Amino acid sequence: MQMNIKDKSQIELFKTNINNSQKVVIVPHNNPDGDALGSSLGLYNTLKNMGKDATVISPNEFPDFLNWMHGVEDVLIYDKNIKKASQLIKDCELVIFVDFNALSRIKLMGNVFKEDETPRIMIDHHPFPEANTANIQISVPEASSTCELLFHVLNEAGFKKNITKEAAECIYAGIMTDTGSLNYNSSRPETYLIVADLLRMGIDKEHIHHMIFHNNSFDRMRLLGHALGEKMERIPEQRAAFISLSQDELKRFNFKPGDTEGFVNQALWIEGVNLSAMFTEKKDIVKISFRSRGGFPANKFSETYFNGGGHFNAAGGESKLKLDETVERFKTVLKEFCEVNNYN
Ligand code: 5GP
Ligand code: MN
Repeated sequence: MQMNIKDKSQIELFKTNINNSQKVVIVPHNNPDGDALGSSLGLYNTLKNMGKDATVISPNEFPDFLNWMHGVEDVLIYDKNIKKASQLIKDCELVIFVDFNALSRIKLMGNVFKEDETPRIMIDHHPFPEANTANIQISVPEASSTCELLFHVLNEAGFKKNITKEAAECIYAGIMTDTGSLNYNSSRPETYLIVADLLRMGIDKEHIHHMIFHNNSFDRMRLLGHALGEKMERIPEQRAAFISLSQDELKRFNFKPGDTEGFVNQALWIEGVNLSAMFTEKKDIVKISFRSRGGFPANKFSETYFNGGGHFNAAGGESKLKLDETVERFKTVLKEFCEVNNYN
């Protein structure tokens, strides 16, 4: 169900479930980003402060630029600890999904929940939630980030006093990364009232910015140079630009998870470009990221052609074709999509 941020009934259910549960498992989406891990650990640190036995289980590894977050060393990585993680899920009283709204977004881990009877809450800001992802679906696409929504929900449920400074740091990190440092998706005054509260809780926002954006490895900066200098192409007819990176190229620059985060935004900085795409060759698929400006629905485009989804201006998907075939297909379907929908 889609709720308005002012709707209180789902929040009451959230409150009752938290009060009635001791063992809680928190789950972010696959390839967790700042908002997914920030909301997981923001909630984790808050629940710990309330004396709960909470565990964050991430479907896979998270990027190094988030490893300063408090509690990060306690995060269990599902694909490396399947047995232990499955047991924890079996034994817990409440599961909370954050920053995703369909079981497919947690990949193989989704199978664990198909038959599971444990009460489940979803807290998310992506449009079009899949029915039955959770029993209680707190879905607010107008929120800048899941972290903003989480703060709102904790506050409305009367748990704001339990948000520690360390939890506040994680929550701020999610708001910041999902809005490009309060650049886009951040024009609701409420977002800033929450940031003000987080600052009052003692967070050092410049330090958080430094840890996330100014703490790059030398290799990552060189990979960015290669991506922008050698691998960026334009499709002027469709006002698009894209970058593609093969496994070999990633290896050459000692790729680590998270190293290509944000690259896709940069092609959108080109004058006249309304759609940016990034193709990253993984072991058996090509992961795709889209960013758009103005009226181009990145989520609809990704859902139609690349088995993906996301937000209107920021979406992702994947392709089972080879990297160069994926790029060729992208060019063809983009032309078709623009013609059919009269874009550009
Ligand atoms: P990113 O490009 O940063 O990976 O993702 C951009 C947005 O699209 C995020 O909100 C993310 O959750 C969503 N997204 C990324 N990949 C996928 C995907 O494969 N399927 C769906 N439904 N959403 C995705
Ligand atoms: Mn998010």
